[in-house]
Formats: sequence, structure tokens, C-alpha cells
Amino acid sequence: MSSETQTSLDAGKQVGAGAAGETAISVWERIVGIEAAESREYFSRELLVWYDRSKRDLPWRRHRDPYFIWVSEIMLQQTRVDTVIPYFHRFIERFPTIRDLAEAPQEDVVKMWEGLGYYSRARNLQAAAQQIVELHDGQMPSAREHVFALKGVGPYTAGAILSIAFNQPEPAVDGNVMRVLSRYFLIEDDIAKPKTRIGMEKIIPGLIPEGRASDFNQALMELGALICTPKSPHCLICPVMEHCRGRIEGMERELPVKTKAKKPRPEQRLAILLEGSGENEGRVLVRRRPKTGLLASMWEIPHVAAAGEDLGIDVVQLEELLEDRGLAWSPMTAYMTAEHTFSHIHWTMRVLIAREQPDVLAQLVAESGVPYEVAVPESAVEPELRFDTEDSGEEWRWVSPEDMQEIAFPNLFSHILNTYFEDGNKL
Ligand code: SF4
Repeated sequence: MSSETQTSLDAGKQVGAGAAGETAISVWERIVGIEAAESREYFSRELLVWYDRSKRDLPWRRHRDPYFIWVSEIMLQQTRVDTVIPYFHRFIERFPTIRDLAEAPQEDVVKMWEGLGYYSRARNLQAAAQQIVELHDGQMPSAREHVFALKGVGPYTAGAILSIAFNQPEPAVDGNVMRVLSRYFLIEDDIAKPKTRIGMEKIIPGLIPEGRASDFNQALMELGALICTPKSPHCLICPVMEHCRGRIEGMERELPVKTKAKKPRPEQRLAILLEGSGENEGRVLVRRRPKTGLLASMWEIPHVAAAGEDLGIDVVQLEELLEDRGLAWSPMTAYMTAEHTFSHIHWTMRVLIAREQPDVLAQLVAESGVPYEVAVPESAVEPELRFDTEDSGEEWRWVSPEDMQEIAFPNLFSHILNTYFEDGNKL
């Protein structure tokens, strides 16, 4: 028994029950065993023949630059290729090297990512670029332990960089790959469980033909993306259909087995679109989110959690938020409702609209004859559009459509603000 086979069997011991009637060990034993040798060789050979003939011309495939491969792999997580391509071009144009990325203001990096979602990916990418500049003179390392040590680089991304850029026989197992392997080898283990992925990572090096790691891993991903698709696998035109056990057993649509992720928790939010007046005319009030947590450091219109039962109570919360900034406003009216799903939360956001009334403060002071206690907002007395709240560490400002080009908003708020700025019937 080769050491490779032994490693795979060890993986089998960790993995749960396999195809019907198989023991915990035999599902992996079957895959790496001598009787499956023909099936494995056929799979690797036909997959590569197909890939050489059919691979898509993708921008990051035109070079073997590890930086381009790394950026593309991070962007492609949870995101379709068609969506990624324009982002990839813009990003590489703005940050052509790892050093350029490392030295850029973080706001610029997040801005380049605006619309792609999962913004911690962009921040981690930059943090890892800074690591590479500091420790590897700005060149992506090729040693396994150095790649794994980079911020935001997990087993999949590390495997993709090492195999695609450096042609090392490392596994790169994502959802596409797990689907193909589950079907081809008839693996019924739950792919949502880490031990199933680990089991697959251990069998892949034995499938990679000598010197073809880069092409093999890309071919596996490509087959999952183009032929062995989630809902309707195109078995009749699949290059590996002859030995595909999932297809032979009529199980191609049942596989892979995957326990459903928990449904995102619904959350009601109430937001305010506050139109500026006077020197803030044509602008809207926004604030920056905290440096950590959901949508860290990105900009948004102010909003609060809404109980949903009594709109009056929710509105009071919003009013307090504005009062704390020393703002005054006209009556709030309904503007729109917007929705957004994160991996764990679903926001339904009711948006109210009102107009800033800075004159109200002066009027109150004049009427009462005594100094008014609420601080006049900096924006009302200074030409600067930015006013930070020292106590909370929050940052607030007024933005115009032009200002929106410079700072990063999550999709939900871009949508609300773009709707507002394009809407001829504002307040
Ligand atoms: S034959 Fe069908 S199920 Fe099997 S790998 Fe090809 S597309 Fe997937």
C-alpha cells in the first residue's frame, strides 16, 4: 500500500458512513482501492482532455501571476464568474501589484469591492498583502506554511494558489469540487461537514497526474461550474460519464448530500433618509459603521432595530439618534421598503424620509430667549461636511451623488441612495 493510499484510509476513518451498505472505512477505501484504479485514471485523463479543449478564457487564466490568481479566488467565493470579471479588471487596474494593494488606503480597497459583498474578504486581502510585503518582499510565497499563514487564506484558497500558480499537487476543494466528487465516486457523506471536505482533500493528490496540478484543479472546478451543475447535471455531454457512479446509480440529482444551512433570522429595521438643507442642500445624512462586525467601516443611512409592533416607539428611537447629533427635521413620512439577506440575518428595512431644518434651532433660541442646550451640528456652522462624534467614535457626514463615488456603501444602502438621488419626487 502506498503512503498516499494510507493517508486516504486515515481520512476514511474520520469520515462517516458512505454509500448504502458501506462501512465508515469502505467508502474511502473503495475510492483509493485497487479496484477503482481504472475509474480514477479514466477520470483524471478524460477530465484533462476535456479541459484542454473547453476551458473558458478567463482574465486570471491568461497569466500564472499568483497575485491575480489569489485575487480572483477570493472574489469568486460566493460570487459568480460573470459578476467577478469586471470587478477583477477594475481591482487589478487600481492595484496592479501586491505592494500597491498593501499601501492603498483601506477605504479605497473596500470601495473597489463595493457591490461584491462579504467585505471582510477585501480587508483580509489587504492585510495579507501587507504581510507579504513585510515578510516576503512583496512576492507571493510558494511555501505551503507561508501561504496558509496569510490572513483570510483558508485551505481552499491556499490549495488554489499553490496548485494553480505554482503547480503543486495540493487539493483545492470548494462546493463545485465536492459536488463532482460526490457524484462521480458516489460519496453520500454530508458535504456541509468539515470531515467530508477533509476526506476529499486527502484523495485529490492521488488523482492529480504528474506535473498537471494547475490544470487538474481548474478542470475539476470547471466541470462543476459548466457540466456537473447543481440542479441539472449535463451527464450526456459529460467527459467522465462512462464511469460516473452517481449517474450509473441514477443518483446524480440526489448528490451531493448537504444539510441545509439555518434560515437567516428576520430582522426589522427603521431607517431615515434625512435630506440636507441650506449648505447641505442636495445631500443626505450618512454615518459610518463601527470598525468591527457586520459591514465593518462601511457607510449607511441611520437606522435602528424596529420591534415592528408600534411604529411610534421605533420612530422615537430614530429621533433620539438624530437629536444626539443636534439635528432638527421636518415630519417623517414613509419613503420605501428595501430588503437584504446576509448569511445569518434577513433585514427588512422601512425607510422614512424627512428634511433637515437647521433653522429650527435658531428659532427656538430666539423664541425662548435663553441659550439652547442642544449642540448645533458642525455641518450647520462649518463648510466641512464631516462631523465625528467623539463619545461614540461614530463618523457622520452629508453626501451627494458625487461623494458616493469616494466612499463605500453596502448594496442595500447604495440601492436606497441611488433610488433617492434618481427620484424626481423627493420631499
Ligand atoms: S456524469 Fe453527470 S453526475 Fe457524473 S460527473 Fe458527469 S455531469 Fe456529474
